[in-house]
Amino acid sequence: MIGAGAAGLVAARECLRQGFRVRVFEKSGQVGGVWQYTDDVEDDLLGVSSQRPLHGSLYKSLRTNLPVKLMAFRDFPFEPGEGESQFVSHERVQSYLENFAKVFDLYPVVRFGTTVDAVKSLSGDRWLVRTSDSRESVFDAVIVGNGHYSKPRVPGVEGMKSFKGLLMHSHNYRNSDRFKGKRVALFGAAASALDISLEISQVAEQVYWCAEKHSDIDVGPHIKRVGSPLEMKGSDLQVKGQDRVNHLDAFIFCTGYHYDFPFLENGIVNVVDNWVHPLYREIIPPHHPTIAFIGLSYAVIPFPLFEIQVKWFTRMLARKFNLPSQSNMVSWCEKKASWLRANKPKQRNFHKKGPELYSQMDDLAEECGAKSLPEWFVPLAERVRLARLEYPVSYRDHECWKSVDS
Ligand code: FAD
Repeated sequence: MIGAGAAGLVAARECLRQGFRVRVFEKSGQVGGVWQYTDDVEDDLLGVSSQRPLHGSLYKSLRTNLPVKLMAFRDFPFEPGEGESQFVSHERVQSYLENFAKVFDLYPVVRFGTTVDAVKSLSGDRWLVRTSDSRESVFDAVIVGNGHYSKPRVPGVEGMKSFKGLLMHSHNYRNSDRFKGKRVALFGAAASALDISLEISQVAEQVYWCAEKHSDIDVGPHIKRVGSPLEMKGSDLQVKGQDRVNHLDAFIFCTGYHYDFPFLENGIVNVVDNWVHPLYREIIPPHHPTIAFIGLSYAVIPFPLFEIQVKWFTRMLARKFNLPSQSNMVSWCEKKASWLRANKPKQRNFHKKGPELYSQMDDLAEECGAKSLPEWFVPLAERVRLARLEYPVSYRDHECWKSVDS
């Protein structure tokens, strides 16, 4: 297992349940992955050429964008505290994951402070894993759970090098302190751009929210919507739609992350324009069915998705069901690729899920003989999705979440 974040932890539990011997390699000193908050930032705030890259991407005030009921693993409830919102602080998620590791006795199988440097395929579908302590070990299977919110994607903007203000990626945003009284532009259309814009707008002189397409919600007078950035010059910014934004103090990219598997032998999967493929069931490469990639999809319900993916993989390894032939898995991947090309405009968004997520989770469960999603799951997930669209600023504190039993 590579990584002791949510994916690696639930994978370890499922492997133990199948009676496998397990080793989890975790480069940090703790479980929790991205939920281990740090005040530290990288030496390069854009996160492109840092000497000491950081894994985490959380900001201090972050609360979950899902009610905890949708974040819980099966057999391990996640409840808000007395009087606490269903949308909890990041500290609460970190302690949930620490408790999970404790209760399922996972700490003894994690080797902390150990980075996986190389994963190479051997004959017989086995794997050679080289770690930072210079050890090499052979495994029958590998589960990759190294996360995909660590390597910032920074689309180039013409003249960026001439920009006089601060350039940063949201990966290194922790709080709004350094933006007091400043003029700040943020670029991105996803939740992080909105959340960070709102936080900074409480203290900044003016915030400009640059995006190809904005939602038309009320964001208050301190946030002005403008088009995507075209060119920077000194401290000015030309944006699409002929607007010009002058005297900027800072520009923050909220433009997502790259998938990255620096340890993986070439040719196991291709990563082209942020699309990891070919992957049968979006988990295993047809030619190497003993390595699994967990949690590549985004805009999902992550913990339950990870859980069903690892149940599927570990039950397959335990021969509780059989994979189709290699050629059938290849044609499944080809069909999937055609569907993606026909239905999603940008390749870099191929891992973004829509409502097809739920049937895919149920298909995995059915195939491996695991429980399907509970009845309340999809209605609640859809209620959250709609609330986020309708009240992107205030959805977390809506009365309606006081009870999420329905
Ligand atoms: P990670 O948590 O990133 O864990 C990967 C682990 O692998 C890390 O511990 C890392 O140190 C380790 N690792 C990496 N490379 C190596 C290596 N070579 N060798 C050894 N160890 C290695 N999800 C939700 O469900 N609700 C939310 O509200 C939510 N909000 C989010 C907000 C932000 C800002 C971000 C960035 C993500 C958010 N997510 C949210 C998604 C979150 O990423 C997932 O929920 C989940 O925690 C990811 O788990 P993971 O195990 O796949 O990856």
